[in-house]
Amino acid sequence: MLNRQSPTSLLEFEKVGRVFRTDAGPVHALKGISLTINVGEFVCIAGPSGAGKSTLLNIMGCLDRPSEGSFRLAGRDVGGLTERELATLRSLAVGFVFQDYGLLDSMTTLRNIELPAEYAGVPVKECARQAERLLRFFDLESRKVHFPAELSGGEQQRVAIARALMNGRRIILADEPTGALDSQASEQVLSLFQELASQGNTVVMVSHDSSVANAAARRIELLDGTVVSDSGAHREAAVPARSSLTMLQRTQTAWSAVAQAMRLGIESLRAARLRTALQVGGPVLGVASAIALLGLADGTYQASLKVVGSMGVDRVGIGQLPQPGLATLDTDDVRSIEGLDNVREVTSEQIGMMLVQRGGKDAVEAQVSGTQQKPDFMRTLWPLAAGRYVNRQDGEGMSQVAVIDHTLRDRFFAPGEGPLGEWINVEGVPFEIIGVLAPHPIMQEEPYRSRPSFPPFIFVPFATGKEMLFRDGESMGIGAYVEDIDRLEETASDIRDLLIRRLGHENFVVSTDRLLFGTFRDSIRSRITFLVAIAVPALLAGAAVTMALMLGAIRQRAQEIAIRKAIGARRGDIMRQFIAETCLITLAGISLGVPLGFFAGYVVELVLDAPSAYEPWYIWVVASIAFASALLSGILPARRASALDPVAVLSRE
Ligand code: ADP
Repeated sequence: MLNRQSPTSLLEFEKVGRVFRTDAGPVHALKGISLTINVGEFVCIAGPSGAGKSTLLNIMGCLDRPSEGSFRLAGRDVGGLTERELATLRSLAVGFVFQDYGLLDSMTTLRNIELPAEYAGVPVKECARQAERLLRFFDLESRKVHFPAELSGGEQQRVAIARALMNGRRIILADEPTGALDSQASEQVLSLFQELASQGNTVVMVSHDSSVANAAARRIELLDGTVVSDSGAHREAAVPARSSLTMLQRTQTAWSAVAQAMRLGIESLRAARLRTALQVGGPVLGVASAIALLGLADGTYQASLKVVGSMGVDRVGIGQLPQPGLATLDTDDVRSIEGLDNVREVTSEQIGMMLVQRGGKDAVEAQVSGTQQKPDFMRTLWPLAAGRYVNRQDGEGMSQVAVIDHTLRDRFFAPGEGPLGEWINVEGVPFEIIGVLAPHPIMQEEPYRSRPSFPPFIFVPFATGKEMLFRDGESMGIGAYVEDIDRLEETASDIRDLLIRRLGHENFVVSTDRLLFGTFRDSIRSRITFLVAIAVPALLAGAAVTMALMLGAIRQRAQEIAIRKAIGARRGDIMRQFIAETCLITLAGISLGVPLGFFAGYVVELVLDAPSAYEPWYIWVVASIAFASALLSGILPARRASALDPVAVLSRE
């Protein structure tokens, strides 16, 4: 609705008061101000410091609202508008020009000028087109890709004025615009304002410098929040006020809002390299330590599996039951068990007490084992003192070779006499000694060490033993070692099914050490849970570091945020940008933290000899937790930043 009195009255104050509530009590910055500024006027508001000039300007710029009375912009009462509507009005109707130019250091000339249109939801191409036109008008084309720090004061102020005119805005509100300029640049700015006003733009400038004030056609003097003199409206433009407010609707899709937040986020992260590097540090350390811890947890698990292997917990035992007349287990059964899923290794043996003799010495009763265990596996169970283990070729060739333990060596041979290549008789069958076993490791430990003695032990090839020493089916034993210990029982029942199919009857027992396994699993799981439980807080700590630095940066960035708001950013724009920054920081942290974590795990493995193992899924789990926690922790700083009151920040300057 337009003002009834005059179609050209653009900024109308009616008994406007503005009270600031401070700790020291209320401050009446404006008291009963009534005045009207028309379209196309160039007005200077003068007065001493603290007179209320900036407060008046902020109300004109829709950054602030009167505490009492009414302020109308082109006939529209601003007092009743929401914060969001005020932001839209700022981006589409009024442009601010500050004493210190208020340009964003992270952006080039072109980007600074474009920004209000971007916040107004204008498509990127259209933003650039409008900005290029203003660049030409203000003779700034050669400075297009320069950053503010590379421009002179006069140039920066021209960029700020160009920015104020973006979006077809025709009201310029300038707070001491020449305060930081030399006289030549000041004159240039003032004549620009005169030119703009003559073209139908409205310029309101605050200055306490009388030579500057003289450039304006109208001068309004403030003192203690009231108007003490007003030279009166000079110019009655033929332009109706309504044309100064073009479209007031902001249209922007969700996607373009996100893309905009990302673009603005990248710009400000890139501009503040040190701060960004510090912020990235949090997630880098969190992600890296989580990855390293998971690797160590899994490494511990794998290493424990090996230990368990040596304890025999991962073993499915298959024992022959003596039932005459039925088919018994043989080497083909062993081969077929080897083919089963989850079976890592199969050993088979027959054991019996037999008389062993050498030369003229007394016969000794010894435990003889016909074995089919692979030498590599034997080595982990019972080390050699000399020679070699029996192997499959020995069995296939029916070789009469044997490995004896150290007690038999001591009994049959004098110290210094080499037993390798010598012969012994087992139940009257001659065997050549090819290896001597060291004392069994477990016999070195309590309670076995203090036991009197175990019978002497001899290994012979399984096939040779079966053919020459053992009766058919006699105490045949098969051990199947599993890959995945969690599936031990499942594999045991697969073996049982397989053997029933092969033999046609169940004259064997399949057994596992379930109790031992359960104990093992519980202890391993608690260790792994412990390591994983440290990994999660490490990730959260990473997110907390980012949040703390973000919160800290808001104070530093208050000026920047206030400027963004002054040129039309809404709360949502600021919020989205800060969340976008957190996301980008976290993504950077993840992509650096993952390789660093793998590397750290590798170093720990090398230096501390702690085993580690890595799976690709760690990356997804760690990255998702890191990202989710960053998003959550990014909300608080983003809310703080978006809630910042630009008036309070700008008045602090
Ligand atoms: P000028 O621009 O003429 O120097 P201001 O409009 O900045 O004057 O301030 C007018 C009065 O209002 C001063 O006393 C100032 O301290 C006070 N004031 C301005 N802004 C705030 C604010 N955000 N909070 C509290 N007091 C304020």
